Amino acid sequence: MFRLRFEILLNFWLTLLFVAWTSSLIAQDLTLRVGQESHRVESATRDGKTYFRLRDIAAVFELSTNETSSQIDVFGPRGTLALMDDRPLVRIGDQYILLTGPVWRRGKGNWYVPADFLEKVLPGILNTRLTKESDGTYRVQGVGRNRVRVEFLKYPDHLSVVFRSSRAGVTAVQEFRDYVEVRYGEYLVNPDSIADPPDRELITSVKFVPEEAFGTFRVGKGEKFYSFRESRLSDPPRLVLDVFPRPGTERSSPGSGATVDLPATSRPSTSREPPDEDPGQQPRIPVIVIDPGHGGEDYGVDVYQDVLEKGLALVLARKIEQRLVASGEGVRLTRFRDVDLAAEQRSAAGNFHRAKVFVSVHVGGAPSAQTSGAVVYVYDPPPAEFKVSRAAPGEGGGEGDDHAELVRWNEGQIGYLNGSRRLANLMQTELNKLFGIQNSVVEARLAVLAPVMAPAVLVETGFLTNSEDLELLGRDEFQETLAYTIARVIGKFLESR
Ligand SMILES: [Zn+2]
Repeated sequence: MFRLRFEILLNFWLTLLFVAWTSSLIAQDLTLRVGQESHRVESATRDGKTYFRLRDIAAVFELSTNETSSQIDVFGPRGTLALMDDRPLVRIGDQYILLTGPVWRRGKGNWYVPADFLEKVLPGILNTRLTKESDGTYRVQGVGRNRVRVEFLKYPDHLSVVFRSSRAGVTAVQEFRDYVEVRYGEYLVNPDSIADPPDRELITSVKFVPEEAFGTFRVGKGEKFYSFRESRLSDPPRLVLDVFPRPGTERSSPGSGATVDLPATSRPSTSREPPDEDPGQQPRIPVIVIDPGHGGEDYGVDVYQDVLEKGLALVLARKIEQRLVASGEGVRLTRFRDVDLAAEQRSAAGNFHRAKVFVSVHVGGAPSAQTSGAVVYVYDPPPAEFKVSRAAPGEGGGEGDDHAELVRWNEGQIGYLNGSRRLANLMQTELNKLFGIQNSVVEARLAVLAPVMAPAVLVETGFLTNSEDLELLGRDEFQETLAYTIARVIGKFLESR
């Protein structure tokens, strides 16, 4: 039980010892190699940790900075970093990254960053990748580019939007109220060309949004837009969105003009499917829905003056998504940007996407700094007098497959409790092994779980108020292990059904 935890600790101390040993010998300056040129970055040691001078790094990459007494912003071609004096938390856009040590301002214009800044943070705003060489120097190389061409193919009953890439990489599709987003998760996207949509009542436009991590396209919904289907083809790698118009001739109201980044949850799922004229058409495949907790104005647990839980929850959710996608699962996130969603919007997204499993990802905070490890929550139904009852049509829920019965919005979870409990126990057991601790599943009447018509849990992946958990959760390797564990538990759960 304690072995994993012990190994993590051992690794940690060995690393620390090694760093202490190397820096006690000499605080060696860093060499960055760009092509044939070598650039020197001054280093310093503080609390046994190696720091590099930010000014030197900025000079190599021609990054401009803007400084106040407590904060420095660093502007890169792909984004802006905000570093705060004496804080280990770095903000890039709406993401937060935890460094192994606090940022260090030695004086005006003289900022130092912990060594892991180079690999953890810097690539987030650059078009380059840093690779550590065996001699301890870093080689700076361009990140692989993905040329993406967007074309349209007209069919009698639908329109296909084809994203043709020069490289095969991870893509995710998510529907919002006013557009469908195609997000690339690997290689920087260079939009080669974007054709004009042949029918603007169906697709208004396809826009490229470069500031999203690797590049994102937004497919604007026209007033005839009704539903879409996604598929992926290889040789060359293509992502295809088949967009179907509203059946019949009646026009829908285009909706109010405001752009809200929320999943299109209001539409009853009965109107979801395209007309079933094509006999070869596949039914929609149920997906796994991951819900990154909090977002927007709702910061979640807030250990520094800045937001942390909401950012970390999103980072973890994305890693879980990657793991699940890699094992062939369809995945939807309830949000993948920094927006505040109400509990019912999260569960609605779960039901809308016909989740086969719903996992809400949080990071805990507790009054006691001793509280640590992961805690899995499962829905605790109200007393028996509020029994499951039939509801009027149109009141939430959906139709088809395993959603055949209409149930009251807040009672969706009741029919799935056995599965939820089994999933919760599996997940708690595995996460206990990972953290080397014995926590138990907690039953609670959580609003986000109540309406979900699928096995559903909420997981607190450790406590930010516990210093050891905080240290672990800030490490990319630990985040990966955590994501891997959760994805594996979901896989196991689905297999054993
Ligand atoms: Zn939370």
